[in-house]
Amino acid sequence: MRISVIGTGYVGLVSGVCLSEKGHQVCCVDNDQAKVDKIRSGVAPFFEEGLEPLLRKHLGRGLTVATDIRASVHDSEMTLIAVGTPFDGREIDLSTVREVARQIGAALRDKPAYHTVVVKSTVVPGTTDGPVRAILERESGKKAGADFGLGMNPEFLTEGQAIEDFLEPDRIVMGGIDARTVEALDRLYAPFPDTPKLRTNCRTAEMIKYTSNAMLATAISFANEVGNLCEALGGIDVVEVMAGLHLAAYLRPYAERPGYVQAPLSAFFGAGCGFGGSCLPKDVKALIAHGERAGSPMPVLAAVMETNQGQPHRIEALLRKHFASLQGIRVAVLGLAFKPDTDDIRETPALPIIRDLLAAGAAVRAYDPAAVANAKAALRDDRVAFAASLEACIADAQAVVLVTRWSEFQKLPDLLAGRPQPPVVVDGRRALDKTRIARYEGIGLRAQETP
Ligand code: NAD
Repeated sequence: MRISVIGTGYVGLVSGVCLSEKGHQVCCVDNDQAKVDKIRSGVAPFFEEGLEPLLRKHLGRGLTVATDIRASVHDSEMTLIAVGTPFDGREIDLSTVREVARQIGAALRDKPAYHTVVVKSTVVPGTTDGPVRAILERESGKKAGADFGLGMNPEFLTEGQAIEDFLEPDRIVMGGIDARTVEALDRLYAPFPDTPKLRTNCRTAEMIKYTSNAMLATAISFANEVGNLCEALGGIDVVEVMAGLHLAAYLRPYAERPGYVQAPLSAFFGAGCGFGGSCLPKDVKALIAHGERAGSPMPVLAAVMETNQGQPHRIEALLRKHFASLQGIRVAVLGLAFKPDTDDIRETPALPIIRDLLAAGAAVRAYDPAAVANAKAALRDDRVAFAASLEACIADAQAVVLVTRWSEFQKLPDLLAGRPQPPVVVDGRRALDKTRIARYEGIGLRAQETP
């Protein structure tokens, strides 16, 4: 098929490149000229394992990159909308989706052939059928269903394993306003014959995406609440509690699908310094706001967010157990990205943690294998030093805070072994073996006081 993808962010570019890999002709479109130039030269504008080789493999063959939405709509059979949908503090910000729908609609006005428009961005239920449909019809002067198809196809990829997730998805959800749209989506996903597919209407497809993210966020905040209680009670390590939980058959990965790589749900039932990223926080907040407006509040999800907002601040509290004052204390912060294997720092707990440390007067030195440039730009604070390596970051640290579960940080116990004055290590992800670290603190852990 000939596909145009609007937006070359984490979702748009990965989708475009992977759909080329699956044999489609793809045109990726973005209004950021610098980004388009970069992609055209074979360079990915963000870090994602395996993306660049695949991009170079298909550039100029099945894959082109452009800035012109109109031409790309005219030259394709289907357009996927993959632009950002941030939370504006009150509700989901659909301004970019609306703007792109407006341009696609205008392009459809003088395109005689049938075309299918598919929303891939995460949008609250009713968006595709509501504002997107209205804008497309108004700008094109045509009727959805009769003259063009309209669908909603949420994306479930996880940054850091996005290529793998896209090429071997666990599920494909295809929402459409009519059978013809769903048939077009069936053709798009024909190269994924073994993937379970759900065909439904657009509102349900939209809701499935939010429900998935809300469920993961709930798992994390649930585990954090349990961890916080473990800390308060003492003598209970939340890691062991969760290990016991994970043994339950309902939390194990699908044994019947050998080679299946998707992380099982148990990965989300783990305590830490809170979830971040471009999806869970904004999607849960948008769903809460949407429920509020619909007269159906979501107190469970409100509590999920409240617990999450408190988690980064627990790091400072754990440090304070060892230092009367943090003034001048040299703290190494390991990890800036919201999760490993990505350079994405959107809503990362690293930023509130660093701000807490700075406010307390600590001397902060941070390291991340991929996200330093993004974090520097977001922090804009000369007081934070950035190290070029893990070793340099922890060199003379009095305290080490692990924020992101990068596999490289597993070297930490070896690197610290034998230091005459070992630093306090605060494990914000419970990623390290606590028995191998002299002065260990972790979220959800407090040694039992001897009575
Ligand atoms: P992003 O911010 O990384 O990318 C959006 C892209 O759209 C940018 O490159 C931007 O330049 C471009 N853009 C903005 N306005 C445009 C316009 N008028 N015309 C053309 N291009 C324009 O966003 P993302 O992380 O890829 O997320 C996109 C959507 O997918 C969001 O709704 C998000 O919730 C959803 N989603 C994201 C993930 C993820 O892991 N990042 C996973 C699943 C779903």
